[in-house]
Amino acid sequence: MNGQTQIQTTDAVSPVSRLPSIDTRTNIFDFDRARLERFFEEELGEKPFRAHQVMKWIHHRYVTDFAEMTDLGKVLRSKLEERARIHAPQVIFEKTSLDDTRKWLLGMDAKNAIETVYIPDKGRGTLCVSSQVGCALNCAFCSTGAQGFNRNLSTAEIIGQVWVAARALGNVPHQQRKLTNVVMMGMGEPLANFDNVVRAMSIMRDDYGYGLANKRVTLSTAGMVPQIDRLAQESDVSLAVSLHAPFDELRTQLMPINKKYPLATLIDACVRYAQRKKGESVTFEYTLMQGVNDQPEHARALVKLLQDFDRRVQMQDAAKINLIPFNPFPGTQFQRPSDAAIRDFQRLLNAAGRIAPVRRTRGDDIDAACGQLKGQVVDRTPRSARIRKQQQAREAARGAV
Ligand code: SF4
Repeated sequence: MNGQTQIQTTDAVSPVSRLPSIDTRTNIFDFDRARLERFFEEELGEKPFRAHQVMKWIHHRYVTDFAEMTDLGKVLRSKLEERARIHAPQVIFEKTSLDDTRKWLLGMDAKNAIETVYIPDKGRGTLCVSSQVGCALNCAFCSTGAQGFNRNLSTAEIIGQVWVAARALGNVPHQQRKLTNVVMMGMGEPLANFDNVVRAMSIMRDDYGYGLANKRVTLSTAGMVPQIDRLAQESDVSLAVSLHAPFDELRTQLMPINKKYPLATLIDACVRYAQRKKGESVTFEYTLMQGVNDQPEHARALVKLLQDFDRRVQMQDAAKINLIPFNPFPGTQFQRPSDAAIRDFQRLLNAAGRIAPVRRTRGDDIDAACGQLKGQVVDRTPRSARIRKQQQAREAARGAV
């Protein structure tokens, strides 16, 4: 260890402005199995099993050139060349943290880029995937929210993040797994980009895709209630909810979406989600911010909320809780509580019989820790402009001293 962040550059450092020009052919990365089968049958007049062969070439062997797909006939290969392409996001740079967390900045179009983070741990490797360029929900404590919102990512851009990471890690689905879990917890609110996210998650769980078990794919939401209900109908993944406060007034200050879907409404939706399947739990994420939501009254109210949830779902520990110490980023007004304060908060939960793991900060030397992802977003909201102004004022004040 040399005490410095190692920076590895892959695919040569390439400015976002040098991304390839628009290609109108269908990007196969946009298709889950059902759609790809339809494409082969309806557009190419081929048998659906050809779709499975192509998926295996792409997601198991990381081949993006139809010419290399040797178990497809020559005629089919040239038909595919004509009608389709396999275009993954471009790696602008890759960084590896001292704790082996890896982060990729991926170019999405001429101006925007997003971040994807891989967190290796004992016996598991978790990839944190982004769903939007920026985010419109404007949570007060979030670096992504401060960047503003530009657009939703396509299915290709979401599954492309998994592909880039899996290829770099040497992941072989079903054999040599480096990638055991995916969490939709990167940049953006996944349920605000419902169709593309659900399609990408279906490829993650498909045997011809990455073959992950349903429970190993987690979608994390700030609390878009109607979409939680829709998710329960249309997909089967683990649900995590960014809670961050047990009181409506405080939660609305931290997360404006709480005004539209207050706690009682949100918890009702989570109960419905858990009730749809026996043994299903919901994870509540709670970012601890000093003097904001880390006091004993918050812990006690949180315990009550979790207990009520268990009672309604009729299962012990149906509500799981993760504590996340706040990771500061430039311009934020919030601070991380002291280790002692974090332990005190955790103790209060433990005393009520709750296992409340404190998430270890990973990758903070490369700005890859929870809440620190910011990518590169061209549109800005008023809040980010305000934060930028505050930052400039602070820098000017420092310069004047
Ligand atoms: S915490 Fe999530 S939902 Fe809130 S602004 Fe950040 S990315 Fe968006």
